[in-house]
Amino acid sequence: MSNKTLNGECLCGEVSWQMSGPFEFFGMCQCSRCRKVTGAAFATNLFVKPEQFYWQSGDKNIKEYQMEPPSKFGNAFCKSCGSRVPRFSSFRGWMMMPLGSTMGLPDIKPTLVCPEDHTEWFTNLEEILNK
Ligand SMILES: [Zn+2]
Ligand SMILES: [Zn+2]
Repeated sequence: MSNKTLNGECLCGEVSWQMSGPFEFFGMCQCSRCRKVTGAAFATNLFVKPEQFYWQSGDKNIKEYQMEPPSKFGNAFCKSCGSRVPRFSSFRGWMMMPLGSTMGLPDIKPTLVCPEDHTEWFTNLEEILNK
């Protein structure tokens, strides 16, 4: 594993962040919650330990939404442009990054989360990722 550094930012550029590897987990999820939160066929999230992550700018310009307990599902986004931004995840206490907002390539392969839950108007990623 390398200690590659990646940078990310929201659409307006107000919120930006940096993280360094080794990256713990790269999850792609097609579940209905991830589809709603992204507005897309699937979510791509990269996870790192909190000490491998820092805000470069705009961390005061973030709004966070948390679903009612016991759900641990939530969202965080830039108050100015609405782009998803990283948030602290209950998943092992790691920081979760929307990988689509990240410049550069992580040196880790994606893992499909919830393969059984996917849309009918887009291909099941399981077939692509397991080729
Ligand atoms: Zn923004
Ligand atoms: Zn999901």
